[in-house]
Amino acid sequence: MDQRRHFKVTDGVDRRLRAMAVLGVMAAIIMLPAYGLTSAAEMPDSGDPLSLHDVRPGDGVTRIGCISDYHVSLCLTPVDTRVYYLESHKPGPTALILGGTHANEIAGIMAATLIVANAVVTAGRVIVVPYANNSAASQKDSRGGGPERFYIETPSGVREFRYGDRRTSIVHQGSDPMRYLHHPSRKVLSSNSARDLNRVYPGRLSGNLTEMLAWACIQLIKTEEVDIAIDLHEAGPGSRLADTIIANPKNLEHAVIAVLDANLEGCDMNVEESAHGVPGMSHREWGDATQAASYLIETPNPGQDSGTVNADVVSDPANPLAARVGTHLAAIEAIFSAHEFVDGSRPEWTGLPTRESLLRDGLGSHLR
Ligand SMILES: [Zn+2]
Repeated sequence: MDQRRHFKVTDGVDRRLRAMAVLGVMAAIIMLPAYGLTSAAEMPDSGDPLSLHDVRPGDGVTRIGCISDYHVSLCLTPVDTRVYYLESHKPGPTALILGGTHANEIAGIMAATLIVANAVVTAGRVIVVPYANNSAASQKDSRGGGPERFYIETPSGVREFRYGDRRTSIVHQGSDPMRYLHHPSRKVLSSNSARDLNRVYPGRLSGNLTEMLAWACIQLIKTEEVDIAIDLHEAGPGSRLADTIIANPKNLEHAVIAVLDANLEGCDMNVEESAHGVPGMSHREWGDATQAASYLIETPNPGQDSGTVNADVVSDPANPLAARVGTHLAAIEAIFSAHEFVDGSRPEWTGLPTRESLLRDGLGSHLR
């Protein structure tokens, strides 16, 4: 029997089926009007959010669940998304790696996809969410910075991936408020921050769709006793944040050591402390609300600078996708090594390509 097929029958899926019976009627009566549905033509992809993406788990994946396992109200909603568990069943820290918080920041998504496909964890656990905001991933980039879809040639043929939007779909969540009041700080943020997963942490049990998704991520970190939480992003090549690790103040020392290590390995990165007084971001709120050391990694995406349209987000000569994915993997590895240096242990894994091999052989050669 195919081991991977066996792993797809999980507690999370069972819970989902059970919840379907209860929530199915509620979804029909309550949820659809709340999302403000008007016509099929205005709908983002209305397929099952859990099967929207071509993620192919490798032998290192021991269990597959859903983010709604941590907030059942998200079951059957467009933000539900797959959670992949890579467990060694040996002592060691637990790490969480999130791609796709902003679904147009594809290097993080592809780094997470590559980890799910290739990594085998030999100490501790690694939990991976490739598409953290699945509603954002179901629609095209509203800024037009990149294509609607992009294609990677792999040994099994050409594979298709989505280039999504930064925020939860208005069709799924409803119109933005006149002003968004962040919870619980009560700071006023721009109105569309209400749909930006990286502006609404720590989220709310009974908030808008994006706030409930953020709350589920926080519950995942608490429930799974995550020690190291990493959010993968991209910024415009002109941004000061490109090639930067941003860290919660409580684990800034780890981040400084990680950046020194990455630079010694030939991957030039900067380090920055989470800003004070700017609420809602993962690197600040995850670390403040939970036991986890929290980090955010940024790489330079040619589709992200303001005014850029239809950039070549895969083969850009200055910042090819393979190099950006390699930077994410190198930065994660450096963060793990920093935790070993400071705390004495780290998640151990094998099977991942180096940044050099990604540049030499291409991203597709490491995807089945
Ligand atoms: Zn981002």
